[in-house]
Amino acid sequence: MKLHEAIIEVLENIGTPMTTSEIANELNKTKLYRKKDDSEITSFQIHGRTRNYSNLFIRNGSMVSLKNSTTKKNSKRPPKWHRDELILALNLYHSIEAREMDSKNSKVIEVSEILNKLPIHKERIDNVKFRNPNGVSMKLNNFKAIDPDYDGKGMDRYSKLDKEVFFEFHNNIDELKRISEQIKTTVSDKELTKYLYQIGDDDEEELLKVKEGKVIYKLHKHRERNPKLNKKKKDNYLKKHGKLDCEVCGFDFYKVYGELGKGFMECHHKIPLSEIEGESITTIKDLALVCANCHRMLHRELDTLSVGELKKIIKKR
Ligand SMILES: [Zn+2]
Ligand SMILES: [Zn+2]
Repeated sequence: MKLHEAIIEVLENIGTPMTTSEIANELNKTKLYRKKDDSEITSFQIHGRTRNYSNLFIRNGSMVSLKNSTTKKNSKRPPKWHRDELILALNLYHSIEAREMDSKNSKVIEVSEILNKLPIHKERIDNVKFRNPNGVSMKLNNFKAIDPDYDGKGMDRYSKLDKEVFFEFHNNIDELKRISEQIKTTVSDKELTKYLYQIGDDDEEELLKVKEGKVIYKLHKHRERNPKLNKKKKDNYLKKHGKLDCEVCGFDFYKVYGELGKGFMECHHKIPLSEIEGESITTIKDLALVCANCHRMLHRELDTLSVGELKKIIKKR
């Protein structure tokens, strides 16, 4: 990659104008561009190069931005980092040395590949650019700037969410590791990931409270939407109880809605999110039959609220 191409890539990833020294700093850290003698790139060089390529860059004092025509056609900025993605990047941040956090490092490359598998961003704008090793490396540099224990200089154009996620796990690296592994295991299953892609994104509010994040939340939903298993669960329950009523509040759709409600009941997957794994198989014992209202309530505290506890809440009232 030539120096001017590397500058374009950095500016595209960041999406805002940057000073020549910020660009130099970023290039040295991500190792996106190396000089033949391996010496550091200076802001002076960035200054010179962006001047020479005035067809590509706009210069305003030491600020550099891209000309509209420079940005490749159809290539928009990469989407904002999702919390799940930040969890994976932060886990990497805590697993390798600061000097290893460049785009050539095999672990950085590995995380970039995993990020490309996450069933999160619908629109894959540009397969080459999306969360590429350089983008991951830049995110690690953001964490350096946030990390109070890091002595060197980081890249301070981090987002509010970057900071929140960093401190959420600051004193809980084990938890960070656990969730990262859970996400990795889940997306290592290609078939499963395809299904997770199809699960809608209409529960952002519920999702805010789910520590395990969106991928694992989708895994939960996938688990309780297995038509065959759900039918088996309902058949068994019907045989045993002679009716299909909510295991929490006793609501019976057939009783209230007649024929229309016959056979209607939702299934909730009872295994806590922290314990579900990609490959494990759901059985009818893992499912509870609940009405739509109780199911929504259970999902409001998905990490912690069990069917039994919700029952207690209703009884108290
Ligand atoms: Zn209910
Ligand atoms: Zn559920």
